[in-house]
Amino acid sequence: MTKRTPIPCPECAREKYFEGLCYACNSRKLRLHYELMTQEQVAATIANIIDQIETIEDWDKVYKDFIGLLAYQDINTKEIAKAAFRKNIFHPPTLYRNASDEIQDQLIALIKQPNCSSASAILNCLSIIGSKKVQDVFFELEKNPLPWRKNLYVDPSFYAGLGGWTFNNDGERVALQYKECYALLEDERTDNAVKVSTVTGAHCTVCNCAVVNILTLDGTDERLRFLELSGTIQLPICPNCASMCEKTIIQYQVNGTSTFEMIDPFVTENYLSEEAIQKLTNNHLRLSLTPKPIYYACGNDDVSTIGGSPEWVQDWQYENCPNCQKKMKLLAAISWDQLMEYTEGTLYIENCNSCSIAVAFHQQT
Ligand SMILES: [Zn+2]
Ligand SMILES: [Zn+2]
Ligand SMILES: [Zn+2]
Repeated sequence: MTKRTPIPCPECAREKYFEGLCYACNSRKLRLHYELMTQEQVAATIANIIDQIETIEDWDKVYKDFIGLLAYQDINTKEIAKAAFRKNIFHPPTLYRNASDEIQDQLIALIKQPNCSSASAILNCLSIIGSKKVQDVFFELEKNPLPWRKNLYVDPSFYAGLGGWTFNNDGERVALQYKECYALLEDERTDNAVKVSTVTGAHCTVCNCAVVNILTLDGTDERLRFLELSGTIQLPICPNCASMCEKTIIQYQVNGTSTFEMIDPFVTENYLSEEAIQKLTNNHLRLSLTPKPIYYACGNDDVSTIGGSPEWVQDWQYENCPNCQKKMKLLAAISWDQLMEYTEGTLYIENCNSCSIAVAFHQQT
């Protein structure tokens, strides 16, 4: 077998085995392309999406533009939703985020048909709309299921999670996401609002790997007020075990002290070298100066976010607080690729503010 020679990326020197930009640089360029669009360009692109809506299944065409504008320009999708509904298009469900009351009511009429053939897709679209009316319809459908329910694996209250909310047994709304979103991006400036992956000096009791505070959050920073933390919290994990256990449960206090335990670690060997830990803890990820669109993480670029609506690698997952059993809220989504080269997947961190508990779990394809 001939040994292939790696080709460095012309932008970041990352080694790979194909010509041109690496995946990460390509994605960043695409993000900048949409972020730098003028309002006229945004309007023209939306008009084109509406015009070509039936081609939305092809990634390379209007789908790419739609996701780019949603993630980086926070577009209003009212007219897109109307065009999509006219053509019976229900994917991606975010097409419907700003659907008019009229379109919402037509979706509700469809889901109320006993044998609705696109129940799953329509529940997704309605969950993204997420209005009080949708909430009441979901609650009603959960209590009194229609025949289509037997073709689905889960209840409407689970579908609601895609839109970042659910409801309890009394039909009361439970928020699963924060309404604000900030990004963690490479930047050399000094900014202590969020520190990503700093060494703690401790070692993992399972694998002996160095423990890191995956996030240190200063809740008193103006940008992080929405998290309603009265001080600084630190969230320690074992970076080796975090992706090889069911989840990590972290008990934190606003004075910065924390403890953590891993649930069902399935290995005891440490696969992370000294070098990998160095890389991991030498990042320059900083909290963005301004808020980002709520769907920022859903763009093509693998970026980490605080708050907002995450891009789920697999099905959405909201943990119950191990203390009070209530649903936890999505606090952050950390893209491993930003911290260690050639690592895949995302670490999702959810928290229960009243119990000062966070749960971290990993998903990858
Ligand atoms: Zn690159
Ligand atoms: Zn470990
Ligand atoms: Zn709790």
